[in-house]
Amino acid sequence: MGGAVSLVGEVIAIGDELVSGQRLDTNSRWISAELGVLGIPVTFHTTVADTLEAGIDAFRIACMRADVVIATGGLGPTADDLTRDVLAVVSGAPLEESPEALAIIESRFARRGVAMPASNRHQAAFPRGSRIIPNPHGTAPGIDVDVVLDGRSSRVFALPGVPAEMRVMWEHTVGPALVALRPGGGTIVQRRIKCFGAGESAIEARLPDLIRRGREPMVGITAHEATITLRIAAAGADEAACRAAIAGTESTIRACLGELVYGVEDDEVEDAAIDAVLGAGATLAVGEIATEGRVAALLAQAQGRRGHAVSGFIGGVVHPPGPDGMTADSLAADARRRFGAALAVGIGAARPGPEAREVVDIVLVGAASTRRCEHVLGGGPLLAASRAAKTAVDLVRREAAQASGMRP
Ligand code: ATP
Repeated sequence: MGGAVSLVGEVIAIGDELVSGQRLDTNSRWISAELGVLGIPVTFHTTVADTLEAGIDAFRIACMRADVVIATGGLGPTADDLTRDVLAVVSGAPLEESPEALAIIESRFARRGVAMPASNRHQAAFPRGSRIIPNPHGTAPGIDVDVVLDGRSSRVFALPGVPAEMRVMWEHTVGPALVALRPGGGTIVQRRIKCFGAGESAIEARLPDLIRRGREPMVGITAHEATITLRIAAAGADEAACRAAIAGTESTIRACLGELVYGVEDDEVEDAAIDAVLGAGATLAVGEIATEGRVAALLAQAQGRRGHAVSGFIGGVVHPPGPDGMTADSLAADARRRFGAALAVGIGAARPGPEAREVVDIVLVGAASTRRCEHVLGGGPLLAASRAAKTAVDLVRREAAQASGMRP
């Protein structure tokens, strides 16, 4: 890779709908963050239309500057999907049909019981000498090709535009290939710490110095539907060295955030709630109005995923809103009695709150104590109810974890 001490990356997003402003390019942002985790800084993003000339220019310029070029889009079967033709020109290798890729594409259609349209055959064409990047969720395989321009070599990875397909291909193939390219070898291990109950900036403020560029191990922060994920990435000689580095950072995060941390990796807050209820040797019932059964659904799904031998969540009732409807307190008391549960959570109807916002009351009743919170509805009509449901689940998680003395 040009003998460089560290690799430099560039990202290219291909598509008329991106340059015309019809769609926002989210792939480049995601890919840049991933390259950052791998210690490959990104110096340019290019967004380019679906024409042969524009594509050739974009790739040539990127390959003159970068060691690693990641592109998305333009691998489909239609006439305006030109990425494979562009790469054939830029790498100076003619397109050849790959029997292996053709067999994969044909088998996808066969599995769905439909004949492969002739246009899809083009997706099996690869520049000579390039490598196939398998696409487990779509028809278009990606292309991994070396481009040598003026004696300087770059590695190009071209992936489909569909974000979910692109990400799976990254995780399975591109990411591991880039780890192998790192100068000095070694490996990279990542661990995700999951938090709930405070916003992204509040969490960041409680982690002085952790989330900064160049820190080892690196810590990144992302938010999705009120769940905050802290991703620790450590580079080291081997996996044991990486895990040791991660452990130190993880305990700092846990010490700073306390009960905001509910789990790791793919854990959802409802998984942690079910574990905590069972850890406390308790049972849980739910009575809800504003959340319309979402709390019960989250808990039931988590219970299914966790597969514990006994049930922690034992029943839920959804009540209609109305002028003489029940309060959060009476909902919780009713659910607790009805199901004979140790703990019950009640979620009242939406009502006007301060500053013209709507709020819901959430009450958790146990044998000896009652916890309550006033949750401000936010995030638009669709998200508001699911955020309120997660907040109720989180109240259960905290109360039950405290009762059992469990560390989150
Ligand atoms: P396909 O085989 O599905 O046609 P493709 O490689 O040709 O894949 P495109 O046709 O360029 O990909 O894009 C497919 C869809 O993926 C687009 O309609 C858009 O919804 C999404 N997409 C493409 N590029 C991006 C991007 N940079 N950011 C976010 N979404 C994108």
